[in-house]
Amino acid sequence: MLLRKQLEFVFERSTIHQRTGRDGDLELKAREILYAVGAKRLAGLVRVGWNPRLKTAAGRADSRVKLISLNPRLSDYGEVEIDLTLRHELAHLLAQFRGGRRRILPHGPEWRSACRDLGIGDEVRCHNLPFPISERARRFFYKCPNCAREFPRVRRIKRAVACLACCRAHNGGEFDARFRLRLCEVGTARARCPRAPQRDAPTNAKRRPRSPRLSLLSPRAISLG
Ligand SMILES: [Zn+2]
Ligand SMILES: [Zn+2]
Repeated sequence: MLLRKQLEFVFERSTIHQRTGRDGDLELKAREILYAVGAKRLAGLVRVGWNPRLKTAAGRADSRVKLISLNPRLSDYGEVEIDLTLRHELAHLLAQFRGGRRRILPHGPEWRSACRDLGIGDEVRCHNLPFPISERARRFFYKCPNCAREFPRVRRIKRAVACLACCRAHNGGEFDARFRLRLCEVGTARARCPRAPQRDAPTNAKRRPRSPRLSLLSPRAISLG
């Protein structure tokens, strides 16, 4: 039974210049780097792309499919940071590639050795992106159970709120309880990375405008009868 109450949709604003999908230039670079350290077969298999679903992690490496995913927000921190993250993730692929079927620790000795070979011998294991000030204040992390989009909020959501993208895609834009946001995490500021991103990260003095990837409440409201 549906109660007659106002509902609001939530959506993520699309980022105008957000990178997404495979990146031919970075892929070529990754191949050259791997080729130079003798991992020719891996060099032929590796793929590199941007994945907007990455939130706190700067990058991710999937050894099974030889895929490196980079967080589009890395672009805000400059080419050096992109290069470091690419090499960090390549080290994961390289370490596992050399290890064969053997299970190795994600940031164990094999990975550190691969880091040295890839020119980032002093790399540390943490590779999270620093949060912009405005986003770190958000304590309530909601998620759409269908598409897994994240909706960080400063306050707890009291009303029934659904994912607009999914309501549009599967229910003609009407509220659908199947896509009601679920609280998945309550926390304070997330762990900040001690690594390089801090160098070029925005500071209080030079605060950037709010991240365009932050989600927001739609002004559009509908009522159910
Ligand atoms: Zn790592
Ligand atoms: Zn959704």
